[in-house]
Amino acid sequence: SKEPLRVLLCENVHSSSHEAFSAAGLQIESISYAPSEEELRERLRDVHVLGIRSKTHVRSSSLAYADKLLSIGCFCIGTNQVDLADANRRGLPVFNAPFSNTRSVAEMILAEVVMLARQLGDRSREVHEGRWRKVSSGCYEVRGKTLGIVGYGHIGTQVSILAEAFGMRVIYYDIATKLPIGNARSVASLGELLANSDYVTLHVPATRDTTKMIGATELAGMKRGGYLLNASRGQVVDIGALAASIREKHLGGAAVDVYPEEPESNGDQFASELRGLPNVILTPHVGGSTEEAQESIGREVSIALTKFVTAGTTTGSVNFPPVELPQVGGTHRVLNVHRNVPGVLRDINRIVSDRNANIHSQVLATDANIGYLIMDLDQDVSADVCRDVAALSTNIRTRISN
Ligand code: NAD
Repeated sequence: SKEPLRVLLCENVHSSSHEAFSAAGLQIESISYAPSEEELRERLRDVHVLGIRSKTHVRSSSLAYADKLLSIGCFCIGTNQVDLADANRRGLPVFNAPFSNTRSVAEMILAEVVMLARQLGDRSREVHEGRWRKVSSGCYEVRGKTLGIVGYGHIGTQVSILAEAFGMRVIYYDIATKLPIGNARSVASLGELLANSDYVTLHVPATRDTTKMIGATELAGMKRGGYLLNASRGQVVDIGALAASIREKHLGGAAVDVYPEEPESNGDQFASELRGLPNVILTPHVGGSTEEAQESIGREVSIALTKFVTAGTTTGSVNFPPVELPQVGGTHRVLNVHRNVPGVLRDINRIVSDRNANIHSQVLATDANIGYLIMDLDQDVSADVCRDVAALSTNIRTRISN
């Protein structure tokens, strides 16, 4: 169909997203708020692409009415606000922006390394309270000190570069083999990293292995007077053990941005054993919260969504098998999502040959519930093929790409 595709953007998604949508010919409608379930259900009847941030809840009860919907973009990092499994079963890939705020987190970590070294959080609080307390004892330069990075991924490697620019020595520990950047050096174990670092910064994902990865034993294995920074995920650190280590003056300070339990919204009370401890910087999960990150999220997610709409690419989707196929001129692309049962490809390929068409190329990937197929045909029988494939009992969604 030649109906113009419509994208609905909720919660003030950054205008940096408009460029990619406009270039792909999508009509944009923006609202500033998170619509209620009823409003969303109503609006979704007419929408091909939905863009939300963290406050719009997308449930099965809304998706059931979204016949035209092709895909959902979360213009943020988290995707808990969407029923991902239901979207998967309905053939709707969901995209997010996992790496748009990498630099923002890395910069905050470097700032905090210096703040901890100089006890700047405490000095600032004292002066605000009218107390003038010049101290040099226990305050250090960071030049020549060792920064230990746990998790040498997107953020960890950026931290590595910035720390070396500051004159720090960098070591890292990762479960995967990672190419060292600059003069950084990998160490064989977490224990070795903890024992040799003046500053330890955590940049691992939340997994079973990283849950309470830093507890009493690990903190005791850190240098006396060392510092711990956590801007990864709250469950990675045992907060009680960290508080004890600070109170006992084993650690010289800590910077914490993420917590096992975080308040739902701004203005809510925050309770933690870490409150009020000396040289402990507490921030409300703002590591990635910058204007630049918002802008970059707008670009990253809108590009992923338009690639899916125009070419069917699902690489990077959080709930869909990754499929991507470069298209050559003169071919006609059919996209199909089906229930993952044996024999579907055989049925589809028979339809193509019955239509006297030839398959130029074809890629299929599956997960537990669905199969996703991109198929380029040499002849333009795509509308007929599309109709026949959509009539298969295994069909979930089938379309011709624009
Ligand atoms: P990434 O996937 O690029 O890197 C994670 C690295 O950790 C990978 O290299 C992986 O191999 C390694 N790893 C996994 N398990 C490990 C283990 N048990 N021991 C050692 N290494 C292990 O992720 P990223 O983009 O660098 O993000 C890192 C963390 O930062 C994530 O938890 C993410 O949620 C968090 N984050 C927080 C904020 C914030 O606002 N504070 C913002 C963005 C990301």
